[in-house]
Amino acid sequence: MKWQQFKSKALIEIHKFFYGRNGVDQLTVFILLVSLIVTLIGGIFRLSWLQLLYFAGVALAVYRTLSRNLVKRRAENQLFLQKTRSITSWFRVRRRIFQERKTHRHFKCPSCKQRLRVPRGKGNIKITCSKCGEQFSRKS
Ligand SMILES: [Zn+2]
Repeated sequence: MKWQQFKSKALIEIHKFFYGRNGVDQLTVFILLVSLIVTLIGGIFRLSWLQLLYFAGVALAVYRTLSRNLVKRRAENQLFLQKTRSITSWFRVRRRIFQERKTHRHFKCPSCKQRLRVPRGKGNIKITCSKCGEQFSRKS
């Protein structure tokens, strides 16, 4: 069999194998990352029993990836995303502030804590909160 033929046949087989299975989702990636960190810690501190946690994590990740119970796996993943939303959004906001540091400044409304974005370099400006209408001035 030619290599190309073999490759496309293998791809079809892989596709067939994963059809109807959960595949890799965010929760699985998270489990794998935690397992990896646990192994590294175990390696540094010579705690061989942590290896067991690593294998448990990998086994769980494989199980979730190959699972055919899509409803249950998706519900688990949704719950995970919901629980970690505040953490991920905190990082997303920090990244955005960093990316826009040369063009915009970010302020918090003193009354409702809404995050507000204004263009940089306009001097002292009066900012009106888009959420509660509070007005305050800041140097942009
Ligand atoms: Zn406000």
